[in-house]
Amino acid sequence: MSLAAVAAHLAEAAILLDFDGTLAPIVDEPAMARPLPDAAPVLTDLCRRAAAVAVITGRPEAFVRDVLDVPQIEIVGLYGLAASPRLDEEVRTGLAHIAAGEPGAEVEDKEVSIALHTRRTADPQTALARIRKPVRELAAAHNLTSFEGKLVLEVAPPGARKGGAVQELLERLRPTAALYAGDDLQDLEAFDALERSEIETCRVAVVGSGTPERIIEVADVEVDGPVGLLQLLRTL
Ligand SMILES: [Mg+2]
Repeated sequence: MSLAAVAAHLAEAAILLDFDGTLAPIVDEPAMARPLPDAAPVLTDLCRRAAAVAVITGRPEAFVRDVLDVPQIEIVGLYGLAASPRLDEEVRTGLAHIAAGEPGAEVEDKEVSIALHTRRTADPQTALARIRKPVRELAAAHNLTSFEGKLVLEVAPPGARKGGAVQELLERLRPTAALYAGDDLQDLEAFDALERSEIETCRVAVVGSGTPERIIEVADVEVDGPVGLLQLLRTL
């Protein structure tokens, strides 16, 4: 369970990375998120030396492709849900209604899932606490799941989680070692998927504002934001 083990097996290792808060600093406007300028060269180099490099994100694949110029990288967008049907209009209207009650709350409609961000409300934590219950109820009423990240609640079909996406990657790629780096609650499931595998693994917590304590506790290694992660990846 260490970075050294992954480094020693790099040619047969999978390097799995979250996007927001991990490769790209968190910004107020989700559409404006960009990876650090050094991310593309570092990842391009890693693609040559590791068995696989992949980004696992709740964002659509096309968004990440547009902002991250690394042709060889694999991108699992929308938690691997891209083939799922578009959410019902009722869910869309219901979430828009909930968002309308919190001035500054933003709806990010990804068709197969919808996220509500409270980052730009006057009191983001309080707004998040207020919408938590109605969002959960709306999700449950439509047999959907809701989950939480940094100042965001998301509604998606059940099973739409990073754990499943990572497990699928590990089964397909069959690496002898794997590193996963992330900064948020969703990434804990990816950590668990690594833990369940029987290969050498390294779980990296990318620590920034609002990183849940739990992810720092569980991680094997802790780095300071996306800058710290790129420094770590350069050492592989
Ligand atoms: Mg993240």
